[in-house]
Amino acid sequence: MPTLFPHLHDAPAKAALRFGDRVIEYGRLAGLANALALRIGDAGRVAVWATSSPYTCVGVLAALLAGVPVVPVNPRIGADELAHIVSDSTPDLVLAAPGDDLPEALAALDRIDVDLEAEEPAPAAGTLPEPVESSPALIVYTSGTTGPPKGVVLPRRAVAGTLDDLADAWRWTGDDVLVHALPLFHVHGLILGVLGPLRRGGTLVHLGRFSPRGVAAALEEGGTMVFGVPTMYHRLAEVLEEGGEDGERLAAALRRARLLVSGSAALPLHDHERITAATGLHVVERYGMTETLMITSVREDGEHRAGTVGVPLRSVDVRLVDEDGKRIEANDGETVGEIQVRGPNLFIEYLNRPDATANAFAGGWFRTGDMATRDADGFYRIVGRKATDLIKSGGYKIGAGEIENCLLGHPGVAEAAVVGEPDPDLGERIVAWVVPAAGGEPPTAEELAEHVARRLAPHKRPRVVRFVEALPRNDMGKVVKRALKRD
Ligand code: ATP
Ligand code: MG
Repeated sequence: MPTLFPHLHDAPAKAALRFGDRVIEYGRLAGLANALALRIGDAGRVAVWATSSPYTCVGVLAALLAGVPVVPVNPRIGADELAHIVSDSTPDLVLAAPGDDLPEALAALDRIDVDLEAEEPAPAAGTLPEPVESSPALIVYTSGTTGPPKGVVLPRRAVAGTLDDLADAWRWTGDDVLVHALPLFHVHGLILGVLGPLRRGGTLVHLGRFSPRGVAAALEEGGTMVFGVPTMYHRLAEVLEEGGEDGERLAAALRRARLLVSGSAALPLHDHERITAATGLHVVERYGMTETLMITSVREDGEHRAGTVGVPLRSVDVRLVDEDGKRIEANDGETVGEIQVRGPNLFIEYLNRPDATANAFAGGWFRTGDMATRDADGFYRIVGRKATDLIKSGGYKIGAGEIENCLLGHPGVAEAAVVGEPDPDLGERIVAWVVPAAGGEPPTAEELAEHVARRLAPHKRPRVVRFVEALPRNDMGKVVKRALKRD
């Protein structure tokens, strides 16, 4: 029978999870998860209060072994959003750690405390059949970057399929020790970052909180891979560039890694370049979304091309489509189209949203809403989201990402986000929100507009530059562009 975790019983003494000083070996993990799976029994759905702790991993694993769809809940979301997620996903049970103080919407549910110290491990009961591959494994809420989070129902086959596709692209094996500090309630941190190592029979080292020193220490202790979002690599790049003792230690530690992977949003070119300059390593970018799991990646054994998200994964069909829904055949690295995806790794549906589900597909292809180009070697370059990153100005279609990358190349710019705002003459005008670099004289708006116009093209010049102290970002460090409104 196919199982999500074929290596769970291979090496009982091997470390499966490490959170700080707490190590859970495979034997103990399997025993704990089995015991918990028996307690979850035949619940309809189970929510997990997904703090960055080992009990979240055990809880999710137990629900998957029990065949009960699991809803990871972001412990930092607001009361309204939580109430929505609970009423939308209707869990019968909530798993939490003994000390967790649950907010009202969850406190009303039956609760199982996952007490890793007190729980008596149970042997593989044999009474826990692996449910069929098409049955729902997880309900993951999207990051809420463009609107309220949507509940995405993911089948078991998609989880297994995407992890095996990544193993193929990255030569990911049971010998890998993955280092990450991502939250455990989205695809990146949970499915790739926790279920990934467990499916391979490898080890996860979770840092709890991200810090460049924590990354360096974990790599010095034998980490082989790092998963991060662009804001994390940005901080690593800053430390590397500053040099000194911390910078040198980090560079040496990173050089020990086999693979540095970035995803969830575009990694600015400037950060790619700084990391490569200091370590000789190329950060591998992969692209995916909650609904499709992973779509493309730069391959470990292939060419590394900064600024691209690589080539389609083994079992995923990818096409580019123009505004009329026609397939774009050109591989010229210039023609922009929407990425559409087909394959076994797709979601089943948006929970309770049949209309949204139907709208998301075009003849069996999932419409990602992301725009990209494809070059002669099949490498995709993400231009941005159709809804927020494609600016229609003066008859041109302009990708926000290109302008953001250009601004970030200016020494006076720490962060940049570019949006279109309605304009009576141009349709939309290009507006740049900029966080100036610390120290030194901040650049002027005119200087930055000139910087862009000279390097890209005159029509890509931002008409307005607004300086801010910070950009609005969500838990994944993604810029929430709908919050970039003039007050
Ligand atoms: P919501 O759907 O709630 O607005 P979201 O789209 O951010 O939020 P996710 O499913 O977590 O939620 O993120 C998927 C999106 O992240 C993709 O559609 C794409 O826009 C972006 N993305 C992921 N990886 C990359 C990457 N390597 N480069 C650029 N964009 C990326
Ligand atoms: Mg989305």
